[in-house]
Amino acid sequence: MTPGSLDPGMEALVEITPERHGVLVELAYASEKNFTGQPIYANNRCWVHRDLEPKLRRAAELTLQAGFRLKLLDAYRPPQAHEVLCGYISDPRYIADPKRGSNHSRGTAVDVTLVDADGRELDMGTPFDAMEEASHHSYRGLPEELQGQRSLLLDLMTQAGFQSLDEEWWHYQLPEARSYPLIRQEPA
Ligand SMILES: [Zn+2]
Repeated sequence: MTPGSLDPGMEALVEITPERHGVLVELAYASEKNFTGQPIYANNRCWVHRDLEPKLRRAAELTLQAGFRLKLLDAYRPPQAHEVLCGYISDPRYIADPKRGSNHSRGTAVDVTLVDADGRELDMGTPFDAMEEASHHSYRGLPEELQGQRSLLLDLMTQAGFQSLDEEWWHYQLPEARSYPLIRQEPA
């Protein structure tokens, strides 16, 4: 995915990099470290809608002030990649119906976690993309320390202007996320 290959929709996207945004980028679907056990993306380049970028920048600043760093686990997801994920799971609480499309495919959602000064991910009680009740913000069965870490992430992202989703502690989106169009990659 190079700037020259972006269609008009793709021009709405801005690349997020550690250098420019002070975040870590480790897209779960660019490696086998995701629930499918397979890489789904062609590379680890991280894109978001240009309307989301300032909020992400703010979230990264707030996170640094709190003594941590933000790690991006997912961001823009090409609709084709979303359809591949839908082949693995059909619970609409965790994966948007491909006909409706994911807010990730609108560039208006990110999946994030916190890392400490040594670059270690904080324990949030479940892995990213664990489709179980323990992933819900409303779940009350976590040890206090882990609940506190999850709440810290929620506070930082909310302060930066993001909206959370109860079922997924890692998922944050623009308040108007669904009003944006799906962004399709040019067919190869
Ligand atoms: Zn998400």
